[in-house]
Amino acid sequence: LFSAVELAPRDPILGLNEAFNADPRPTKVNLGVGVYTNDEGKIPLLRAVRDTEKARVDAALPRGYLPIDGIAAYDSAVQKLLLGNDSPLIAAGRVLTAQALGGTGALKIGADFLKRLNPNAKVAISDPSWENHRALFEGAGFEVVNYPYYDPATHGVNFAGMIGALESYAAGTIVVLHGCCHNPTGADLKPEQWKKIIEVAKARQLVPFLDIAYQGFADGIDADATAVRWFADADLDFFVSSSFSKSFSLYGERVGALSIVTSSKDESARVLSQLKRVIRTNYSNPPTHGGAIVAAVLGNLELRASWEQELGEMRERIRTMRNSLVEKLKQVGATRDFGFVAQQRGMFSYTGLSAEQVERLRTEFGIYAVSTGRICVAALNTKNIDAVASAIAQVLK
Ligand code: PMP
Repeated sequence: LFSAVELAPRDPILGLNEAFNADPRPTKVNLGVGVYTNDEGKIPLLRAVRDTEKARVDAALPRGYLPIDGIAAYDSAVQKLLLGNDSPLIAAGRVLTAQALGGTGALKIGADFLKRLNPNAKVAISDPSWENHRALFEGAGFEVVNYPYYDPATHGVNFAGMIGALESYAAGTIVVLHGCCHNPTGADLKPEQWKKIIEVAKARQLVPFLDIAYQGFADGIDADATAVRWFADADLDFFVSSSFSKSFSLYGERVGALSIVTSSKDESARVLSQLKRVIRTNYSNPPTHGGAIVAAVLGNLELRASWEQELGEMRERIRTMRNSLVEKLKQVGATRDFGFVAQQRGMFSYTGLSAEQVERLRTEFGIYAVSTGRICVAALNTKNIDAVASAIAQVLK
């Protein structure tokens, strides 16, 4: 049965992790994987999460199945975080949400549902994008194309190229957009650019699929949802996949959601019924633990304040590390200006380092990064940043 099965290529980022774990050097630094670590290099367990978990364990709750679309209070909290507490769309019943297995699970059920709805559509993702976007949509049976996005010359967005591509797409094309904190580049769209994209999406009847995995990591919960809310204001039907992996530091608990904005309450009910069929045949219903914690934290004023405080601290620490890396690279005489690193947002930066330079970082200095030159700035800390800056300066020589 399996004699002709070929060995699949290793996942480039998870493969990097394996190599990192096997590296005996005590000074090694992992800037490869997209995980936030604190100044001690540890994945934090947020206070609000810990307190909620304790209370849940003490309550010794039974472990029944959740509804197919998850915990109602969770789905409702997700909608409010994305669209705002006073969203008229939520009030009108035009938004439906299903708890999903992380942002990845949300993309997967969204992709499967879209394939049933519009099987001949193409999917357009940014060039470059989170590598799983292509795989997920191709896996669902779609043809996936790239729209121009990153401009290495400016370390920003090639907006003319992007808009040109969007304007060329057929009606019904599904366009995946990073709501904030673009992965892998750290280069985000400006407010006026979002407005233009919304205009084009509307005029050309594109299907926007906003992926927001880092809400709260750029400027704050509400500020980071600006683009999502503008799409809502524009009276468009669109998809949003969201994730609490990073913002709640709950990576392994798989807490995300798929939200869909439709034109009416009636449409929402019909769409949700179909989405539930997709979920039922994928994994039946989502897991309880992570979703229950997030719902409890977001539903309690004190816990929510504590969460926002810690999220703010994570955001500030990343900002400090970005500024510090730029400064330190200057101090150690790096032959390039890295000022753009301080402008980029979220957990990642496209450093502009070549695959060869990244390879040297690993072999000579035990510093692991993705071969595209992407580093996770959220993995920098006061103990490793000097070594990282000096190693980058060395490989640039
Ligand atoms: N979308 C983007 C852009 C991401 O960067 C990630 C996480 N790396 C995800 C989705 C998936 O998030 P999760 O880990 O919650 O599945």
